[in-house]
Amino acid sequence: MDHFQFKDGVMHAEGVSLEMLAATVGTPFYCYSSATMERHFTVFRDAVAGLGNGAPLVAFAVKANPNLAVLATLARLGAGADVVSGGELARALAAGVPANRIVFSGVGKTRAELAAGIEAGILQFNVESEAEIDMLAEVAAAKGATVEIAIRINPAVDPKTHGKISTGGADAKFGIPWERLPAAFSQAAAHPNLRPVGLAAHIGSQLTDLGPVEDAIRKLGDLARQLEALGHSIKRVDVGGGLGVPYRRDQPAPPSPADYAAMVARATEGWPWQLMFEPGRMIVGNAGVLVSEVILTKEGASKHFVVVDAAMNDLLRPSLYGAWHDILAVRAKDARTVATVVGPICETGDTFADDRKMEDVRIGDLVAFMTAGAYGATMASTYNSRPLVPEVMVKGDEWAIVSQRNQPAAMLALDAKAPWL
Ligand SMILES: *Cc1c(COP(=O)(O)O)cnc(C)c1O
Repeated sequence: MDHFQFKDGVMHAEGVSLEMLAATVGTPFYCYSSATMERHFTVFRDAVAGLGNGAPLVAFAVKANPNLAVLATLARLGAGADVVSGGELARALAAGVPANRIVFSGVGKTRAELAAGIEAGILQFNVESEAEIDMLAEVAAAKGATVEIAIRINPAVDPKTHGKISTGGADAKFGIPWERLPAAFSQAAAHPNLRPVGLAAHIGSQLTDLGPVEDAIRKLGDLARQLEALGHSIKRVDVGGGLGVPYRRDQPAPPSPADYAAMVARATEGWPWQLMFEPGRMIVGNAGVLVSEVILTKEGASKHFVVVDAAMNDLLRPSLYGAWHDILAVRAKDARTVATVVGPICETGDTFADDRKMEDVRIGDLVAFMTAGAYGATMASTYNSRPLVPEVMVKGDEWAIVSQRNQPAAMLALDAKAPWL
């Protein structure tokens, strides 16, 4: 469910016309609906509210959309943050996420990032290797701090999603093989500056089959009991994120938050530990669109090309994952065609849709790439020296630019001619 609806034939974000926004801020731009992300967060939060021991912590996976206004919107609803870099930590704090609702994940946190997390007083580090246990202990000791950690396991399950966003297979770089968890816990417990209190797993993203997640959660439960039998005291179990979102209106929707919560309830029945969740995509995916203008159309030997002013540097998912985004004319059209939608970048991979049945858009028309709120703007680059595009947030009839388009001159100013030139 989202708040991008047609009014008098023109797509609106809540009460704001995307045509008006395009005329005002220029194309391409991302547009987010506050109401959609608020709704998704509260639906998820309420669905899992009764599970585990005490109120669960829902820590938004910042990497899905780190925009400050997005984080602030969610923080006001009580969201925590799952961060994977010092930059994301700084953003979460700046957005008003309390430090005691922040968890720091990631397979290669640097000493500087570990130190930043300790200084901020975050809730927990999700540690992903034996080497990181020792490194964090050293950094904590140098600061005279004691930090709570969870150990992320690799549960060795096949999440049945796209290979590039599958993180739970035995050969993935993430976590510690689950068989080594008891040893890793003992290793951590031996450090006076570490308090191993939790377990974590995150098996992948855009999951459409809940079976593998259920297997991973049950494995976490078995391991937590095993650790308690060994004398460790477990406080929290972090079951990660990964719930999929509907990218295609013509295909069945993935499991809902209610389906997901019912599965978690089953898998965690009787657990005496607090639960943590790290949803990203499902909170913000459908809350954003990328609006672009058709520069021109051209006929190839056998293809009808629609060349738009957005490109793979603005929205990488189609070229990185072969991902599908519905493409709708912002001013709805009756005429239909089969089009290959491409950006201006000098790569054949700069293709958003190949031989897509869609509206017959022409020069100057606006199109919206739907479900672009997650892993959209945040994956953008300046390839082909294209400026990063602005992000606009809408709330009811109000709107605001929440990230500026960067300017070619400012980008150029970061470079310097070497002294010998
Ligand atoms: C990416 C990531 C998430 C969020 O995944 P979604 O599919 O966006 O819900 C959660 N936890 C960790 C550790 C991640 O790396």
